[in-house]
Amino acid sequence: EATNEHTPFATAEKAAGGDTRDVLIRTVRLNKWFGRQHVLRDVDFVVHRGEVVVVIGPSGSGKSTLLRCLNGLETFQSGEVYVDGVPLHGPGVNLDAVRRELGMVFQQFHLFPHLTVLDNLTLAPVLVRRRPRQDAEEEALALLDKVGLRDKARAFPDELSGGQKQRVAIARALMMRPKAMLFDEPTSALDPEMVKEVLDVMRELAREGMTMVVVTHEMGFAREVGHRVVFMDEGRIVEEGAPEEVFNRPREERTKAFLGKIL
Ligand code: ADP
Ligand code: MG
Repeated sequence: EATNEHTPFATAEKAAGGDTRDVLIRTVRLNKWFGRQHVLRDVDFVVHRGEVVVVIGPSGSGKSTLLRCLNGLETFQSGEVYVDGVPLHGPGVNLDAVRRELGMVFQQFHLFPHLTVLDNLTLAPVLVRRRPRQDAEEEALALLDKVGLRDKARAFPDELSGGQKQRVAIARALMMRPKAMLFDEPTSALDPEMVKEVLDVMRELAREGMTMVVVTHEMGFAREVGHRVVFMDEGRIVEEGAPEEVFNRPREERTKAFLGKIL
């Protein structure tokens, strides 16, 4: 396994005698409340570099909130979150810097409707990262090629199918060269015939070694592509393990009940 001796975090892990694989994302006893509702309860969540972690669980169990805490879209009241060794809590945190490290893909595609596909991809790199436009456009076209949409570069989002929009959203996230990609039910809003084209793009990313956290109900994808499955219920991680373990031999009653409903 690859280890990273150079980050203070990896060193601390090693000193603690823990798992010394290269940790990219970690939460420690993460707690989050919305008002009086306790939605994340002592969540210890780890993603190693190159790992594909699939998060499953009933609606309202805190899956989206967890993803949003990882890239600073939500604040949290207690616990720790680290992305590549950099804490998202405590004084002097630069959330913008952390946010750029993680690409996020949502159920609703969140494309800019008044911009072409190409401009959707180049807007942030050119304006935020001050990349030369021509350079950004070249990379955008290469990424559109990769997701099978180079011929749609000049189209507007409402000229695309749902599956095409989601592939554009993935390409747009990749433009920021993220260290990991977070997917929140990326195929849930799609007609069934479009699910595969999006999962195929995600499968290819995984094959190339992208670190990914995927909230999904696509159990075929979870089994085939996931290295680890995390089951959440009522704000807690109830069980986790290899897909084959969690799906075939769940240990916890709550996991069995959930799988019984969806499989
Ligand atoms: P999941 O993604 O697993 O369906 P969520 O993380 O979206 O669950 O939600 C967890 C709980 O937090 C739910 O009870 C939900 O209603 C609540 N919640 C989520 N977002 C907000 C918000 N912005 N304000 C108040 N409550 C919220
Ligand atoms: Mg959700």
